[in-house]
Amino acid sequence: MSSDQSSVIVWFRRDLRLADNPALAHAVATGRPIVPVYILDRDENPAPGGAAKWWLDKSLKALDISLTAAGSPLVLRSGHAELELPRLAGEVGAGLVVMNRLFEPVAWARDAEIAHELKSAGVDCKGYNGSLLCSPGSVLNGSGQPYKVFTPFSKSLLSTAEPRDLGPAPTGLSSVPGTGSEAIEDWNLQPSSPDWSTGFDWSPGEIGARRALEEFIKGGLARYSSGRDRPAEQGSSRLSPHLHWGELHPWRVVESVRAAAESGKAPKSEAEAFVREIVWREFSAHLLHHFPRLPERAFRPEYDAFEWRDDPAGFEAWTRGRTGYPIVDAGMRQLWTTGWMHNRVRMIVASFLVKDLLIDWRRGQAWFWDTLVDADLGNNSQNWQWIAGSGADASPFFRVFNPTTQGEKFDPKGDYVRRWVPELAALPAKWIHTPHDAPSDVLSAAGVTPRTYPKPIVDHKAARERALAALKQIARAD
Ligand code: FAD
Repeated sequence: MSSDQSSVIVWFRRDLRLADNPALAHAVATGRPIVPVYILDRDENPAPGGAAKWWLDKSLKALDISLTAAGSPLVLRSGHAELELPRLAGEVGAGLVVMNRLFEPVAWARDAEIAHELKSAGVDCKGYNGSLLCSPGSVLNGSGQPYKVFTPFSKSLLSTAEPRDLGPAPTGLSSVPGTGSEAIEDWNLQPSSPDWSTGFDWSPGEIGARRALEEFIKGGLARYSSGRDRPAEQGSSRLSPHLHWGELHPWRVVESVRAAAESGKAPKSEAEAFVREIVWREFSAHLLHHFPRLPERAFRPEYDAFEWRDDPAGFEAWTRGRTGYPIVDAGMRQLWTTGWMHNRVRMIVASFLVKDLLIDWRRGQAWFWDTLVDADLGNNSQNWQWIAGSGADASPFFRVFNPTTQGEKFDPKGDYVRRWVPELAALPAKWIHTPHDAPSDVLSAAGVTPRTYPKPIVDHKAARERALAALKQIARAD
């Protein structure tokens, strides 16, 4: 413990937890009073979408409860961090600010400025990695360049990275009494008139995150590799929003599933199949760090010449789940109702927008950004570019998902469609993915009419030909 007894500000961002939190652990280790703060920057770019704000509201409330129980309640401030942090440091007599780094390029550059501002005000500033298995820049190929292909990236990361910074939630924090805080209710993060969040069935916060991890280990992990492709089942972990908001350290997740496999609760192959997805998250974050324009520009520049269609009616039908393709519509309605969509269905709906409708992937990315509780700049842009064929290690553009056969393969009984598109619920499994081809007596027995459920807004076969012709145009222009 040093003789310096000035307080330490712990600046929380997307590390909304007490356990396994390197910045907080460092602050606690100093033995000095702790001021935990969250700063809402209303000019943040990109601003969080509506669903993300819903999550933030609840996760901050949960964090405050845990911090209060540990001894030092969460302080809420709004404004620009480069002004608010030095101001707060002055108010509470802080000599040090600690934070877990954000690796997105804009945040990275801003944090460097903030550290500079603080240092010029005589306040030290330290950053840690609390969100990734490895910091970007530490996984590079033999020529010292970032990997652009997933498999070698994954091999390199998994052979070198080691679990770090795991430790229990601290207790007995000493606070700085009288530190003023804003009221979260005044931040209006929760939607009202209308409140579209009534179907959001989530438990934001560290306790909810731990519970979701435990449930997954007890349930889906043992047959993850097949279960994760079945949207009607709870075969995946649903940890994405918890990971995005830093309610769990990714090493905690990896260590827990590996320990479960070691103790025979799940086959090792299933645990490693799951770890592979955590490494995809890592790949996205590293790519975004090294290629800052990923959310705006095609990673493969020839794709920037693509001639997208302007189709407001098609886009609206897609957002509302009224395309006439049941699996697409089920996914888009699951997204709107719950703030989340199953991964297999994300791929199907994204392919439909980009290839069947030939609508720019950035429009889909923006819709997801606003509606997903797990909206994440790296994962969202990397995955949209993967589908659009323009990304690093992407699925080729000519691989056009057929929404009907995808539905039949991954939702064979139609349970997922029945749940999210109730107007088709009475259709037999044989026709659930092809109501447009069903005989009229089957449709009328199930109460399906063009008024209750639309005919397909495009013919998939013709749309596929159109997409491949558009691809040839850019190949010629290249
Ligand atoms: P699980 O299968 O249980 O996987 C565990 C974790 O691994 C996930 O929580 C996630 O952190 C990570 N992961 C899984 N799949 C991927 C993937 N394909 N790419 C990167 N990381 C992955 N994920 C987001 O977290 N935020 C997004 O904004 C996002 N946008 C997407 C957009 C499109 C078009 C597509 C096709 C996928 C997107 N994904 C995004 C990836 C993936 O769909 C979700 O991470 C996954 O569905 C979350 O469910 P889960 O937690 O049950 O996943």
